[in-house]
Amino acid sequence: MKLLRTEAECRSWRDSLPEKSKLCFVPTMGALHAGHAALLRRARARGDATALSIFVNPLQFGPNEDFARYPKAFEKDLEIARAERVDAVFAPSVETLYPTGFSTTVEESALSLPFCGPFRPGHFRGVCTVVLKLFHLIEPQESLFGLKDAQQFLVLRKMARDLSLPTEVLGVPTVREADGLAMSSRNAYLSPVERSKAPLLNGSLLRLKMAWEKTKSAEEMGRSLKREREVLEDAGFQIEYLEGRTFPMLGAPLQARDPVIFAVAARLGSTRLIDNEITELADPHAYGILEASPSSSVQG
Ligand code: AMP
Repeated sequence: MKLLRTEAECRSWRDSLPEKSKLCFVPTMGALHAGHAALLRRARARGDATALSIFVNPLQFGPNEDFARYPKAFEKDLEIARAERVDAVFAPSVETLYPTGFSTTVEESALSLPFCGPFRPGHFRGVCTVVLKLFHLIEPQESLFGLKDAQQFLVLRKMARDLSLPTEVLGVPTVREADGLAMSSRNAYLSPVERSKAPLLNGSLLRLKMAWEKTKSAEEMGRSLKREREVLEDAGFQIEYLEGRTFPMLGAPLQARDPVIFAVAARLGSTRLIDNEITELADPHAYGILEASPSSSVQG
């Protein structure tokens, strides 16, 4: 496994691959867990070579967010990458990707607006900018993202289409702990009491999804959303949003015939958690969504 630090190293590794080989790419911010491992496993299964990037991207963090304290576990990350038979890890410094004077950004301006949009101004601009740079450096045929961050997946898929990028953006179903909590590097921030409450988020989303699939009534959904908001607030969550929108356009109001995504962002103490559930899709592949990965060899 190659460890690449500079743009030049990255390009020269890319150039060393056989011309016809299919490269699958998984961008991350490190502190890898079984959710990331599932993406790597999918990538390995789909391509001839797998690249992983580890970069905590300052451009996607707001001034009062957790950039400075974002969990880091570089040596363990490399072990996981080796176990998943990654061919190259690109782990640049901030100065490498954003040299002094850096002044160009990329913005998707429709799917970035709802859900996290108002609560994390500039977040998706930061995500699009770094991912576009990584796509140019790695030149993958396919890039895999987790549905845990479904809005991010949709924004990046749109960016790739709108800017005619030669990489296919694919989504991989969310990997969860046994109690339903979506795996996340940020779960490490939770105290034991917070950790015991955290699965309530997914419980609420599953009830919302079931209620919608049963009633297909926007009025009933309004009542269910109010009820679930109370359940979560009573448990101590500070909710940023708890909403149902059409999938994949993230529109409102809900139409009986559209697939729906229920999404939540909430704080538990100082930790911001997000999760979502998407109603049954007749053809997930039409949205770039892959089947769930075979179970990972890497835990936690
Ligand atoms: P992050 O390191 O949090 O930026 O995540 C890197 C990639 O892993 C993103 O595409 C995430 O959506 C994905 N990811 C994170 N957690 C999970 C999870 N629990 N299940 C599936 N994918 C995940």
